[in-house]
Amino acid sequence: MDLPSSTSTRSPQKANEITAFGPHAPAVPADTADLEHSWTATPVLDTTDEIFVAGRWVRGSGTVIESIDPATGRIFAHLHGAVAHDVDLAVDGGLRAVASSGWAELLPHERAAVLYRIGTAIEANTDRIAALQTADTGKTLAETGALARSAAGTFRFMASALETMEETITPRRGPYLTFATHEPMGVVGAITPWNSPIASDAQKIAPALAAGNAVVAKPPVWAPWVTLLLARLAEEAGLPPGLLSVLPGPGRTVGDALARHPGIGKISFTGGTRTGRGLAHVAAEKLMPITLELGGKSPTIVFADADLDQALAGVLFGIFSSSGQSCIAGSRVFVQRAVYSEFVDRLVAATTALRVGPGTDPRTQVAPMVTRAHRDGVAAMVDDAVREGATVLCGGAVPTDPALADGAYYLPTVLTGVPNSATVCQEEIFGPVAVVLPFEDEADVVAQADDTVFGLACGIWTSDYRRAWRTARAVQAGTVWINTYKQFSISTPFSGLKDSGIGTEKGRDGIRSYMNQKSIYLDVSGQPLPWAGR
Ligand code: NAD
Repeated sequence: MDLPSSTSTRSPQKANEITAFGPHAPAVPADTADLEHSWTATPVLDTTDEIFVAGRWVRGSGTVIESIDPATGRIFAHLHGAVAHDVDLAVDGGLRAVASSGWAELLPHERAAVLYRIGTAIEANTDRIAALQTADTGKTLAETGALARSAAGTFRFMASALETMEETITPRRGPYLTFATHEPMGVVGAITPWNSPIASDAQKIAPALAAGNAVVAKPPVWAPWVTLLLARLAEEAGLPPGLLSVLPGPGRTVGDALARHPGIGKISFTGGTRTGRGLAHVAAEKLMPITLELGGKSPTIVFADADLDQALAGVLFGIFSSSGQSCIAGSRVFVQRAVYSEFVDRLVAATTALRVGPGTDPRTQVAPMVTRAHRDGVAAMVDDAVREGATVLCGGAVPTDPALADGAYYLPTVLTGVPNSATVCQEEIFGPVAVVLPFEDEADVVAQADDTVFGLACGIWTSDYRRAWRTARAVQAGTVWINTYKQFSISTPFSGLKDSGIGTEKGRDGIRSYMNQKSIYLDVSGQPLPWAGR
């Protein structure tokens, strides 16, 4: 890990090159038993200790962030983070860049062309992004590769949406042409969590840039690198300097300064409900628009008439992929009484068979958690659940495999024996922990599913389309999947109800949420207003 001088003139490509673990590293054959655990060597990642402030790559003057590979516990990089003063520089630089580059005044296809090039660059660097993100968050390379491709798709979609956006001429009342138009907000603050960094970044940065704004991104301390890499790719793709700053650093200083800065026209936040509520207070003080994508405790409902093979695969994926560190994790599994015992037996057998290992091993299904501290927090919640009366059917412990001893691993866990009112059913765990609960009928399961402060997502497994439709309409959730789970399309809006958030991301209207609506009346009569003329 090199610590270069404060303002780099090195080629961005070179600076972030992954030297010993990247697209050209030899793949581990999926079925080669004698290579077992050969993956435990920490990849060497040539990260550069620089943040991106108003178009300049500089050594940060804030707290040093230690990046620890969750699979091994080894430190693989250091990064001097940003400080609150960088927010001033970035916001001022963003405002200047919008004015001097004429970004907002470019023809839509000209702005779209830059976004499209960023999307293409992300896709071309999928392996590099995936390797960095796996080192930072522990996720499997399959997951982090998918996130990179999703981010590329988001930039391309927003480019297309921008090219096809329309303004409205509203019905005339009197001698006026009346227009409903939209204007950029100036500089937008994007604050993101660690669990799916580049996809969360793209969901905010792409539409905000498309709308003609500058963006100051505040990535999480636990996973800052891919946002910095995204900025390098955007720079190479021709985004005018200053339009995107990336300020990794603590939320309570850098994130707070960003939200409070008078030059910030909107905050787009993804993260925990507690942080989001605090930011909503800041936004209320400033009367500033804010989008909040927050936590969840999503129900996944297995009716007795479901295809149980399909439901089982979906329930497993819904809770245990990304090691349960997903806002939409299907953490409460409701199973109709008639198939409850059979389904629980099958779920436990399948969960026990899941392969736990490092994200770099293509055989891994359940990778480590993001940090050991987070893993210990999850373990403590399971212990509390047991004290509250829960039965651990499988998991509920760290793995005993010595090869995994240094990582932040936790076995995929199935709990039963507690009512929906139990803490473990009400609080977000953000780990590989499913609680299974029985239900009697539709009315009972909708009541239980909705008995939570959250309203983010829901899964329904049934072969009766009328039941599926009724339940999907009745449940309080921003997204409902029927006979599938955790599937996304950039063209389909995403939002949370209740404590899961305010506002919507994605979809064609995603760009509009980074614009202020303005109405214009143009007089066509040429006559003085009668009141003044009398
Ligand atoms: P978090 O709320 O702790 O942090 C999120 C971001 O906010 C980080 O960048 C952090 O540094 C910053 N932050 C913290 N305090 C701040 C403050 N006072 N002012 C400004 N910024 C501040 O969340 P996390 O632990 O990083 O992420 C996990 C949470 O995110 C979970 O609750 C998960 O459900 C949620 N999440 C939601 C979605 C969604 O789309 N609804 C998606 C992913 C994650």
